[in-house]
This record gives sequence, structure tokens and C-alpha cells, in this order.
Amino acid sequence: MSRPSRRDFARLAGAAGAGAATAPLLGPFAIAQAELKVVVVGGGAGGATVAHYLKIGAPEIDVTLIEANPIYSSSFFSNPYLGGLRTLESLNHSYAGLRRLYVWVVNDIATDVNPARKTVRTRGGRTYTYDRLVLSPGIDIKYDAIAGYSPDAAARAMPHAYTTNAAQKRLLRHQLLQMHDGGTVAMVMPASPYRCPSAPYERACMIAHYLKTRKPRSKLVILDPKKEFSEQALFEEAFSRYYKGIIELNLSNEVDDFAVASLNPATREILTKAGKRVRADVANVIPPQRAGEIAAHAGCTDGDWCPIHPESFMSRNVPDVYVLGDAAVAADMPKSAFSANSQAKVVATDIIAALNNTDRSEPHYRDACWSLVAPDDSVKFSADYAPGGGKLVASNAFVSQPGEPADLRRQNYQDSVAWYASITADMFAKHARAPGPADAGRPSAPAEH
Ligand SMILES: Cc1cc2nc3c(=O)[nH]c(=O)nc-3n(C[C@H](O)[C@H](O)[C@H](O)COP(=O)(O)OP(=O)(O)OC[C@H]3O[C@@H](n4cnc5c(N)ncnc54)[C@H](O)[C@@H]3O)c2cc1C
Repeated sequence: MSRPSRRDFARLAGAAGAGAATAPLLGPFAIAQAELKVVVVGGGAGGATVAHYLKIGAPEIDVTLIEANPIYSSSFFSNPYLGGLRTLESLNHSYAGLRRLYVWVVNDIATDVNPARKTVRTRGGRTYTYDRLVLSPGIDIKYDAIAGYSPDAAARAMPHAYTTNAAQKRLLRHQLLQMHDGGTVAMVMPASPYRCPSAPYERACMIAHYLKTRKPRSKLVILDPKKEFSEQALFEEAFSRYYKGIIELNLSNEVDDFAVASLNPATREILTKAGKRVRADVANVIPPQRAGEIAAHAGCTDGDWCPIHPESFMSRNVPDVYVLGDAAVAADMPKSAFSANSQAKVVATDIIAALNNTDRSEPHYRDACWSLVAPDDSVKFSADYAPGGGKLVASNAFVSQPGEPADLRRQNYQDSVAWYASITADMFAKHARAPGPADAGRPSAPAEH
């Protein structure tokens, strides 16, 4: 297999419109790369990208990626699936490209980290040693935050459909298809901070689009513990322009608290703290969230999330461990795939710079998020971020405005579709070449320790 050059690394780090670290000047390696072991837990927007960029920048580093699922089912772009505008299969991505780069992809669940011994244990009973550990486990759902909710309630009756679990998305879509015309869909919105600030409201638009086109006598009742939400003016404009009479938005205020007090999965009844009772035919419950559990086992969490150094996404709590993506506290930087992909390039660059003994240059991060409010009508938020005063500070923020012309919104939508293709190619190294004759004899599995 021909190896990508360092120049390729710098070029690709800026590719895909996905933001980039400023690549350090890569000097000769200070220590033998073949001895270096990086273990990455979580093969999503953050972890898969780190694995890819480590292999581009320093192919001899031994990179093991521990990922629970053999196929990644993206959360991003799952809302158009719920609205009937995309298939579930179109969200699937394999790890074949990363394997072609000799990332050791292990399908297993990391259950424990021993920072003193620098080891990761898995449910399958294996132990992997690391010089650097990268955690990008995404979110876990706080089931016990809502009385009556549980993993079983989610799996059977009231899906959250908010993680990489494909069965959750399929269940919610199936329930929408099964519901009679004239039924009530309820959405329980999450308390902040949560994965992708605009995603629940994009989802409301996509579910309402499905109801409007297939079951027009039905209603969507939104119960929100918050007083306001991301890009509210844009979504409220869409609710009234496209979904008048379908969406009922209940935002909390000084008098009414629409946080859920309790729910009953058997009857799909939801009771809010303000005393509003909704008997739903379909209930999409998106509870509060926390960093993926392995981050707590590694000692990286303070409360629900993981504090990091904004220059590198190195954990503030545990040496030689990076935490990125949704699990990290990235100040104003939204928990998004775009953000995680951008952070991943900084992490890979930082690991390689440390190994090379070269100076790190100032990192730059970027986020951009599109939300589809109706077919061919996407709104957009974007910003740049840089470390400042111990956190990440936003600049150059852009947000769509209400009342924009249809052709601009259509262009946004086309940009978002192009972005989905490019970020998933970038995460999973889809363009990596197949191994060649020079690779004969290389081992085909990571060493255990
Ligand atoms: C409905 C919805 C719409 C969204 N839309 C957008 C959008 O338009 N644009 C955008 O940028 N973002 C969007 N997002 C957010 C985006 O999906 C996340 O921010 C992003 O995936 C975070 O990346 P991550 O690496 O932190 O986690 P993930 O991508 O979720 O990856 C985490 C991975 O870790 C694995 N894992 C976890 N724990 C373990 C363990 N112990 N052992 C092994 N494997 C483990 C999981 O299986 C998973 O594959 C959306 C999210 C949702 C829910």
C-alpha cells in the first residue's frame, strides 16, 4: 500500500469543508513510531476521524479503534429518514477504509480504563495497552432523569432515536407509519446541554412534514423543559409557514414548566410539571444526556461531561488521554459531527506533534450545522472557534435569517447533502487505497497485552 505523504496530511486536514487544525510542521520522528500505541474508543465522528488522520500523518503508529458496532449508523441526517426523505441504509458506514489503512478495528465494547497501567479492557475480555488514549464515545442517555423512562421503555414503546442505535430510529419511523390519521405524536425535548442543539427542532419539522403529507389530521405536541432554543426564530417561522395547525409548541416559562414529571410507557401518557397531560400514539422522548460511560470509567468526567484543554482536547483530569466530540466540554462549540470531526484533526495533529517533539501551532476549529425544515429548505449556523482564556471562543458566527429567498435555502440544502457525503468519506477513509504487494506479511489483527 502506498503511504500518504505528510503533504497529503496537511492537505486532507483542510479537506471536506470540515474545519481543520493548523497542521504542525512535522519533523523527523523523535522516537520509533512502530513502538507507539494509540487506542481510540468510539468509531464515530470524532474517533474514526482521529484514527484516519493518525494513519495519514504517521502511518507506522499502531492505531487500535475499539467500536461497539460493525456498522456506524449516523445520528446526523437521521431526521430526514424519519420524515421519509431518506432511507435508513443511507446512514450506514463501514470501517473497511480504515482497515485498509491498517487501523486495527476491534468490534467490542470498552468497559474499563486503567490510567496508571495505561490499559483498556473490553467486554470481550481483551486488554489493550496505550501510549495515548483517545475517547470519543458520544453520549449516553440519562434514563433515570425522567420517572417511568428506562432502556426497556425506549426499546419497546417510547424511542429516543438519538444515538447511533439503528433499531431506535427504525422503531420511531415504524411507529409513525403505523399510527392512524388523526393521531397524536409527542416529542419530549432535552434539557441543555445535549447533542446537536438544533436537531430536536429539525426532527419536529421532519415529523410534521410526514404528518402533513401522509396523515394531515394528526398533531405533533412538543413538550420542552427550556424557555428558548437554538435558532428559535427560524424554526418558529417554519412551524407557522409549513406546519400551522399540526405543531403545538409548549415552551416552559415562569408559570408553565413543560419538563416531564413522569411518563407511562404502557399507555404512552406523559405528565408535565405544569400538570399538562398528553396521551400520545407515538412518543419520541429525548431525555437529558451525559458523556458516554467509558469516559467516567476512565476518570475523565466532572459531573456529566469531560473537561478538556481547548488547545488539544487533552483531558484536564487524566494524563495522556484525549476526550473529544460530544463527551467533551467544548464551551460554546456545539456538540455536532462537524465539531467532532474538526476537533479530531487537532487531536491527531497534537499526538503526532508530541511524538515528533515539534511545537504545536495554534489550533483552529470550525462548526457548521444545517437543519432541514421542509423539503429543499435548509437553514444554517456556522462559526469558527479558537482557544482563549482557558475555553473555546467563537468568531465569524453566521446564522440564516427568517424570510430568506427559496433559492438560498435550496442551496443550503444542497450544501448539506454534499457535506454529508464528504464528512462521512473523511471519517471512514472511504478513499483509502487497497493494500498492495508491499503489504504482504503485515499482521491482520492488533496485538493484545
Ligand atoms: C437527530 C440528530 C441529528 C443530528 N444532525 C447533525 C447535523 O446535521 N450536523 C452535525 O454536525 N451533527 C449532527 N448531529 C450530532 C452528531 O451526530 C454528533 O454530535 C456526533 O456524532 C458526535 O460525534 P462523537 O464521535 O462524539 O459520537 P458518535 O458519532 O456518536 O460516535 C460514538 C461512537 O462510540 C461508540 N462507543 C461508545 N461507547 C463505546 C464503548 N465503551 N466501546 C466501544 N464503542 C463505544 C458508539 O458505538 C459510536 O459509534 C445530530 C445528532 C442527532 C441525534
